[in-house]
Amino acid sequence: MRDVFSFLPEERVLLDREDLLLYAYDATPADRRYPAAVVRPTSREEVVEIVRAASRRGLCLVARGAGTSLSGAPLPREGCVVVDFTLMNKIIEVDEANAFVAAQPGVVYEELNRVLAEHGLFFPPDPGSGSVCTLGGMVAMNSSGIRAVKYGTTRDYVASLEVVLASGEVLRLGGRYRKSASGYDLKGLFVGSEGTLGLFTEIGLRLVPKPSHRAAMIAGFHDFNAAAEAIARAMRARTDVAVLEVMDSRVVKAVEGFSGIHLSSAEVLVLAEVEGFDEGVEGEMRRVARIFREAGAEVELAHDEAEIAKLWKARKAALPALARLAETLLLEDITVPVAALPEMMRRIGRIAERHGLRIATFGHAGDGNLHPTFLLNDEEELERARAAVEELFRECLALGGTLSGEHGIGVEKRPYFELEHGKAAQIMRDIKRTLDPQGIMNPGKIF
Ligand SMILES: Cc1cc2nc3c(=O)[nH]c(=O)nc-3n(C[C@H](O)[C@H](O)[C@H](O)COP(=O)(O)OP(=O)(O)OC[C@H]3O[C@@H](n4cnc5c(N)ncnc54)[C@H](O)[C@@H]3O)c2cc1C
Repeated sequence: MRDVFSFLPEERVLLDREDLLLYAYDATPADRRYPAAVVRPTSREEVVEIVRAASRRGLCLVARGAGTSLSGAPLPREGCVVVDFTLMNKIIEVDEANAFVAAQPGVVYEELNRVLAEHGLFFPPDPGSGSVCTLGGMVAMNSSGIRAVKYGTTRDYVASLEVVLASGEVLRLGGRYRKSASGYDLKGLFVGSEGTLGLFTEIGLRLVPKPSHRAAMIAGFHDFNAAAEAIARAMRARTDVAVLEVMDSRVVKAVEGFSGIHLSSAEVLVLAEVEGFDEGVEGEMRRVARIFREAGAEVELAHDEAEIAKLWKARKAALPALARLAETLLLEDITVPVAALPEMMRRIGRIAERHGLRIATFGHAGDGNLHPTFLLNDEEELERARAAVEELFRECLALGGTLSGEHGIGVEKRPYFELEHGKAAQIMRDIKRTLDPQGIMNPGKIF
C-alpha cells in the first residue's frame, strides 16, 4: 500500500494497526473494520493523485472529517482507504462584500464561526458536534442542529463546491452569486451525498449577519404529550423562534447529572430562543412565553447571556449524558411535519411500551426532528430494538415524515431507504453509477 501512495510523505500514509483502529469508528454501534490504509492530503492536487492511484488499483475510498457521524457513513469497508481531510483545514477567504467564505473541508464548524464573528458574519446550522465536526462532513451529511427551525440546514448555505470525481477530474459548481436559474442543481446533488459521489476539496458558503440580540426561556411540563401540543401551537402561531428544543424526563435527568446544571424541577422541558437585531427580540420572546404558559407550562426566562449559554451547553450534552446510562445507544433521527409532532410523540411512547424498551427522546421539535434514543444493555435488547426501530420508521413515514432529519442514511438506515424513496432510490443509484462507474466512492453507504 505504501507504494500506491508513494507521492505522499511517509508520515501522511498510515499503515500501523494502532493508527488504523482510530479510523474504524464513528459515533454509532455499527460493525468495525480496519481500513487498508489512511492517507492525509493537504491539497487538491494530492486528493486528485490519491483518487487516480486508487482508481487504477480498484481501491475504494472513504472520505473522513472528524468521524462524528451518527449513521456509520465514514466507516470503511474491507479493503477501503480512508482519506482523512483534517489537515486541509484552512479558511481560504472571507469575502465580506458578498457575505461569502471559501474554506477547505477540514475546517471545524465552531472555529469557522469564531473567525466569521470578527467580520459580523455567521454560518448558522449549529450541530451539537460543532466544536469538532468539519465542513466536509457537514456538507456530505447536510447537517443542521438547534437553529434549523429558523435558518434551515447546511444545504441552504452551500454556494459553491469543488469536487474531485472518481475519475480524478475536478468539478467546480456554483459561485458567489445569490441566485441562479442556470441548469440542473448539481451542487445540490452533492450535498447529503455522504462521500458516495466525490470528494470535496473546497467549500464556499453564503453567510448571514450575526444577530446582536437574543432571549431565551425554559418551559416545564409534567407530561410529554402536553409539551408536544404546546410546541405545535407555538409553531402554528408563526412565532419567530430560532431554537425550539424538547427533552423528555429521562434526558432532563441525564443532562442535569452529567453537566451539573440544574434546569428545572419539571419533568419535560422545552427550551426556546429568539434572536435578531433589536429589542423586538424581547417582545417576541414574551409572546412565545405566553403561548407556553397558556398551554400549562411553568415558564422561566433567561436573564442574561451567561444563562442562555448554560441552557445550550446543557442541551448539547444530551447525547454524551445518555451514553452514561446504557451499554449501547441506538439514536434515531426521524422528522415529521411539525403539525404531526404530538402524534409522533404518542406513537414513540406506544412503541417503547410494546417492546418493553427504554427510549429517551430529545430533539429539534420546532422543525419536527426528534431523536428517540434506545438505551440498551444487552444483545437481546438490541434485537428487540431493531424490530422497534422498523416500526418507528414505518410510523414516521405514515405521518408524512422522513428517515433522517440530519444524521443521514449511512449503513444504519440503509435497509429502509427504499421504503421512503421507492422509484427515486433507483434513480439515485443510476446517478451514482454514472459518476462512479467503478463504485470506489464510499461503497455500501445509503444503498
Ligand atoms: C455528540 C454528537 C452530536 C451531534 N449532533 C448533531 C447535530 O446536532 N446535527 C447533525 O446534523 N449531526 C450531529 N451529529 C452527527 C455528526 O456530527 C454530523 O453528521 C457531522 O456533520 C459529521 O461531520 P464529521 O466531520 O465528523 O464527518 P465524518 O463523520 O467524518 O463523515 C461524515 C460523512 O461525510 C463524508 N465526508 C467527510 N469529509 C468529506 C469530504 N471532504 N468530501 C466528501 N465527503 C466527505 C464522509 O465520507 C461521511 O460519509 C452529532 C454527532 C455527535 C457525536
